[in-house]
Amino acid sequence: MQRYPWLILILCCLAACQSDLDKKISQLDEVELTNPKIPFNGDSALFFVAKQVDFGPRVPNMPSHSNCANYLTDKLSSYGLTVEVQKAEVENFRGDSLSLSNIIAQYQPQYKNRVALICHWDTRPYADREIDLARQEMLPDGANDGGSGTAIMLEIARLTQKADLDLGIDFFFFDGEETGPPEYDTSYAQTMNSYCLGSQYYCEYPLLSMKHEVGVLLDIVGGREAEYTFEHHSINQAYQAMLTFWALGHQLGFDQYFIEDKTRFVGNDDHVVLHNCSDLPIFALIEYDASRQSYNVHQHKMSDNLENVSKESLYRVGSTLWYYLTNYSSLRDVIE
Ligand SMILES: [Zn+2]
Repeated sequence: MQRYPWLILILCCLAACQSDLDKKISQLDEVELTNPKIPFNGDSALFFVAKQVDFGPRVPNMPSHSNCANYLTDKLSSYGLTVEVQKAEVENFRGDSLSLSNIIAQYQPQYKNRVALICHWDTRPYADREIDLARQEMLPDGANDGGSGTAIMLEIARLTQKADLDLGIDFFFFDGEETGPPEYDTSYAQTMNSYCLGSQYYCEYPLLSMKHEVGVLLDIVGGREAEYTFEHHSINQAYQAMLTFWALGHQLGFDQYFIEDKTRFVGNDDHVVLHNCSDLPIFALIEYDASRQSYNVHQHKMSDNLENVSKESLYRVGSTLWYYLTNYSSLRDVIE
């Protein structure tokens, strides 16, 4: 070997040049993965988006909001989950009172090893990113922002009926994430506290013991050809768990979509609130559009509708998540 010092040099270089994700992918290669008994269904997830949109805006205090809450609760119960609705009266930035419902559903509540899935199911009360002033006060469908994460979690809940996973799952459908002031009204500051009112309330009055091994937040995941990068806060909160998810996404052939790139700060979400009060390792799946250096182009616009949600994107995120949960026990060593 001494005769080939250049070879040693190249090998050392290759090892050093390996990215964090490459290393995780090599680690994952050593793990024997099993296919879920029933695969994640993109059509079913898209159906759940359409169903939510059909109710109308899921804006607190509107009948369409409470009708959708009832639908979510009934669906989750029908899948055999233990469901609890946490009602909360909170005030928004203007001092208006909002009636919120955080919906929490448990799969296999008797299991100590638990994973948390988190989304928000409410929608933005204004299309404040519209250029046209007349449209800014209209209410978007929130098919992607609100609808997509909720739909994927509903589909996972549906699949748990016939699965026998060796872990428990807690589904947190938070309300009141979109409560911050409209961007066109500069008399109110865009503070973190004015958003995520549902998860902030939950942090004050938690219903479950928050000892989850990992948490995954899903928001704005269903845009066409959506790409996901390492969200700013997730890097600090749950880097290894997130890398493992990305590695699995690559293994499933979605490497074009799970990008190894650290995203600059774009905004906060419920995973930051929940991490701050529980210390849970939670990472976010959220679209990052590099050309805009922001989330999906339709966010907080009237075009955040069913037409701009893709079942392929729902499938890519949902099936990777379903594999992650199905194989979670084998993935523990990779995550650490
Ligand atoms: Zn939003």
